[in-house]
Amino acid sequence: MRGLSLLLGTMSRTGRSRAAALALIVLVTSLLPIATTVVTGLLVGRVPAAVAGGLGSVPARTALTLLAGASAMIVVGRVIGPFKEALAENLGRALDLEIQERVIAAVQAPSGIAHLEDPEVTDLVEQARRLGSSGMRPGLAVAALASLVPSWVQALGSALILVVFHWWVALLWLAVWPAAIWLFQREYIRIGQVVYGQSRRMRRAEYLCDLALAPDAAKDLRVWGMGGWLADRFEATWDESTRPGRLARRPGRGVVWLPSAAILAVNAVSYGLLAVAAARGDIGLAAVAVFTQALIAANFFRAFDDQNAQLSFAAVQVPALLQLEQRLRPAAEDEPTAEALPDAVGAISFKGVGFRYRGMERDVLRGLDLTLEAGRSLAVVGVNGAGKTTLVKLLCGLYRPTSGRITVGGRDLAGIPSDAWRKRVAALFQDFAQYHLSAADNIAMGAPDLPVDTDRLCRVAERAGVLDVIEGLPWAWETVLNRGYARGADLSGGQWQRVALARALYAVEAGARVLVLDEPTANLDVRAEAELYDRFLELTAGLTTVLISHRFSTVRRADRIVVLADGVVSEVGSHEELMSRGGRYAEMFRLQAARFTEEVGR
Ligand code: ADP
Repeated sequence: MRGLSLLLGTMSRTGRSRAAALALIVLVTSLLPIATTVVTGLLVGRVPAAVAGGLGSVPARTALTLLAGASAMIVVGRVIGPFKEALAENLGRALDLEIQERVIAAVQAPSGIAHLEDPEVTDLVEQARRLGSSGMRPGLAVAALASLVPSWVQALGSALILVVFHWWVALLWLAVWPAAIWLFQREYIRIGQVVYGQSRRMRRAEYLCDLALAPDAAKDLRVWGMGGWLADRFEATWDESTRPGRLARRPGRGVVWLPSAAILAVNAVSYGLLAVAAARGDIGLAAVAVFTQALIAANFFRAFDDQNAQLSFAAVQVPALLQLEQRLRPAAEDEPTAEALPDAVGAISFKGVGFRYRGMERDVLRGLDLTLEAGRSLAVVGVNGAGKTTLVKLLCGLYRPTSGRITVGGRDLAGIPSDAWRKRVAALFQDFAQYHLSAADNIAMGAPDLPVDTDRLCRVAERAGVLDVIEGLPWAWETVLNRGYARGADLSGGQWQRVALARALYAVEAGARVLVLDEPTANLDVRAEAELYDRFLELTAGLTTVLISHRFSTVRRADRIVVLADGVVSEVGSHEELMSRGGRYAEMFRLQAARFTEEVGR
């Protein structure tokens, strides 16, 4: 029930004026039927006198006024109904959006990315991501409340009318139904918790379904004949994830029988008393009409509808999602507020840096010492999994060392505000993102703080060798770089790499002084890769650059080369120094050169 109050609080804060308007309409739609019951009751009571007195008589005029009043109420009720629904839908969507925005802000809050590897966080993030399309979104709770509350108020109000009949009968109604609703809502919350607890499994089932339907795996599915296997797997996982919910929906016998029996008994007593009173003439026609209608309406309490389930599910889901805010809020001491970095950042030193990924049993780096000289290029080599990318991720501040420290111009990186450091570093990773945004945005996002300036865009695109390509696109800079959009077009792998390079150069325009190229060339041939790295080194001369590549023809162009092995730097020096040392580097270089000569010679 705490979840319910948090849900209500979030709802009312989402759009204050809309929430207030909705509350008012809900109040009116709740009270109108009660007023209609009283007025029509009175109308029925006036009919005999009006008929006897004729059309011009006072009772007839009163009856006509009551008739007009009852009709007006019915019309108003009909007219504001659709408004209420539209407003509730609108507010519900706003609530979903607010939750998504808060989740996005929470996920963006930490400066690193370690939290994105926490399965509980990724699970919640995934849920938030799907809120717009999910069948059980919290926003539905708004419409649910807008529909449930009037039924409850109407039933409560009608029960109150019965005070005039027998106060203790009214009291019975006021006690039994609310107790039943409380009991059922609690039951729904329990079910909601069980269903919600299955969301990770459900996500797995959805993944399998996506896999079977999306084009990405279509080739594999057919070549390996995996279609049937995947369908069975999907069915089994879906069944597993929905079974607990299905079982939980079977309420305990006490929850069903006790309230049902009590409600039945209260109905029997009330109708019995009313029948006896009417038969004995203890109450008049109007009273019989009003009490009968009141008794009917007093059963309008809704406790078992879909809306009750939606409300309870939201009461479980919203607190879980918003809990991300506390969980991911950077601790005050984590975010330094030191003075700005100087334009020239100075040498960067790794001092005894150790690092282990969350949940892993092995350190990737173990006391690594390395200095990146300011304004020089450094290539990092090592076998797959040696920790090259990890090293640059630490350099970018995406993770913090588990032990040791990284200093920049003598200052501990941990003491430099992450925003300030991000403006100084630009990196192109292997899996750099190909954004479905305009060509201009794809490059300008290298420095989001810099006002978008076409001259600057053209300058960096030209230097990256992609200006002609962009200007040749159907909508030039405005073309969305994906064919799936109305004004979209695709780029080749090599063109994308140049766009990414232009993005890095754009960051340099905004003050980046450290550039990283972590094999963004996987799908380029040797010549294209060599050309990209050459261009990169030429364009970034005077900046501190880090290159990662498997191709030694590229690596040898760097001022200095380090070999990573067993979590430490095993060799360091220029290409010539390392070759003459005859160690691991020389061995790897010769091996690759030999294979290359062999392939070329074939
Ligand atoms: P390299 O770039 O030299 O190929 P990486 O730095 O990518 O190596 O990876 C080093 C090791 O850390 C590998 O064993 C890899 O599997 C592991 N690793 C990389 N990223 C993660 C991660 N996010 N979580 C857990 N382990 C990781």
